[in-house]
Amino acid sequence: MSKRDYYEVLEVSRNASAEEIKKAYRKKALKYHPDKNPGDKEAENKFKEAAEAYEVLGNAEKRQRYDQFGHAGVGGASGSGFGGGGMTMEDIFSHFGDIFGGSFGSFGGFGGFGSSSRGGQRVNKGSNLRVKVKLTLKEIANGVEKKIKVRKYVACEYCNGTGAENGTAYSTCSTCRGTGHVTRVANTLLGQMQTRSTCPTCGGEGKTITKKCPHCNGDGVIRKEEIITINIPAGVEEGMQLSVSGKGNAARRGGINGDLLVHIEEEKHPELTRDGNNLIYNLQLSVPDAILGTAAEIPTVEGKVKVKIEPGTQPGKILRLRGKGLPEVNSYHQGDLLVRINVWIPADLSKDERKLMEKMKESDSFTPRKEQNGFFSKMKDIF
Ligand SMILES: [Zn+2]
Ligand SMILES: [Zn+2]
Repeated sequence: MSKRDYYEVLEVSRNASAEEIKKAYRKKALKYHPDKNPGDKEAENKFKEAAEAYEVLGNAEKRQRYDQFGHAGVGGASGSGFGGGGMTMEDIFSHFGDIFGGSFGSFGGFGGFGSSSRGGQRVNKGSNLRVKVKLTLKEIANGVEKKIKVRKYVACEYCNGTGAENGTAYSTCSTCRGTGHVTRVANTLLGQMQTRSTCPTCGGEGKTITKKCPHCNGDGVIRKEEIITINIPAGVEEGMQLSVSGKGNAARRGGINGDLLVHIEEEKHPELTRDGNNLIYNLQLSVPDAILGTAAEIPTVEGKVKVKIEPGTQPGKILRLRGKGLPEVNSYHQGDLLVRINVWIPADLSKDERKLMEKMKESDSFTPRKEQNGFFSKMKDIF
């Protein structure tokens, strides 16, 4: 099923103000609110559709992207995550719950419908851990396995991450009787409404600790040094970020681990500079070598190679060493090494050298010719 236009969903014009959009969403949300339409799947879908539209149009930046690129601009094409139709009722209430606030009383959680299986319990996620990794060109060319030492939160082994002494010193929460949520009946303009929210006593965990684990002081996590092995693929570049899922900090008292975010930095190579997947080397030739030809040593990521310089090589010429550059991440494409030829012109000459030069000046061979060739013939493939 194709997505409806968000403006159409909220029934507002494309140049509606932020206030108008908010009002329009509020109207839709109240109309299709699950508490007013119990068991009505159609209403629930409309309720979700309106929330998705508001998620985008209610945010200036997302709205601009949507105006420019349509659903694709806000992740609508992928169908995953927020704005891609992946919103759950809980997402809607936790993000836009306040839109029902004020005159309608508080909707702390959500009323009796849908995904009661989760019972109001929240899944905690640990925070992400960020590290920087500095790589040489050689490591980038081949890919590398890096072991890095990090200090991070891990589950406390004495209490098994529960925060309770020996992992057993807790009892069922008396406020919510272990369900993790509390139900309230509120009188609103729409009539009596049951609202459900996370239990304030146990924070949704359904149990309270009777004796804290002395090792982690009840947190369920402790800071520890750990060595993490990261496999870095070939071809990465400065500023890239790799994400290693589940290798970040552990969550307090159970839950899922955060991710490890690896920020890539490049160590400067003494002779080679990078241009995307290509490498560039500036070769400085002497005047006689440029005239007579020579075999020049060119540094590559894997060591030096000898390259033949033809007699009569002009400065500005570029030699291309095919495949001697860097690979592209997740592809078979391999960059080249470009050798830019410069000719070194001496400024200080001895008397004899000066005489020699003056003699050459007369010679017809030293008279500059008009360049017959364009830029492309300056490029020469070697391998
Ligand atoms: Zn502990
Ligand atoms: Zn509780």
